[in-house]
Amino acid sequence: MADDCIFCKIVAGDIPGRTVYETDEVLAFLDANPLSAGHTLVVPKEHAERLDDLSGAEASELFAAVHELTPRVESAVDADAVTVGINDGSAAGQEVPHVHVHLVPRFEGDGGGP
Ligand code: 5GP
Ligand code: ZN
Repeated sequence: MADDCIFCKIVAGDIPGRTVYETDEVLAFLDANPLSAGHTLVVPKEHAERLDDLSGAEASELFAAVHELTPRVESAVDADAVTVGINDGSAAGQEVPHVHVHLVPRFEGDGGGP
């Protein structure tokens, strides 16, 4: 755990997160400032800043959770599609330096996107 990392604090239960899915290695919770209803973040429980900081096994566990969760998130909010995205590094828009995958439910004609 990184002391000053907000997502590590959510994983540890030190600050509240609205958990939607959990395995031994991965936690998924609702985004505090959702781009659409049901916007979910999927994170490795172990602190890692960038995608390249994950081992192949950790990346596989993360993607397995994304694979399982994406259709569930879509149906939970009756969406038409999901944008799945990672901002990997600050120049790409990463604001929280703990790897996270955005699952953003999308609706026909919403015209938006991350
Ligand atoms: P990034 O720009 O790093 O890819 O995305 C960070 C995401 O984390 C943003 O969508 C932001 O709304 C979300 N976020 C930031 N702080 C918190 C928090 O304390 N709790 C939750 N649930 N989401 C957060
Ligand atoms: Zn962290």
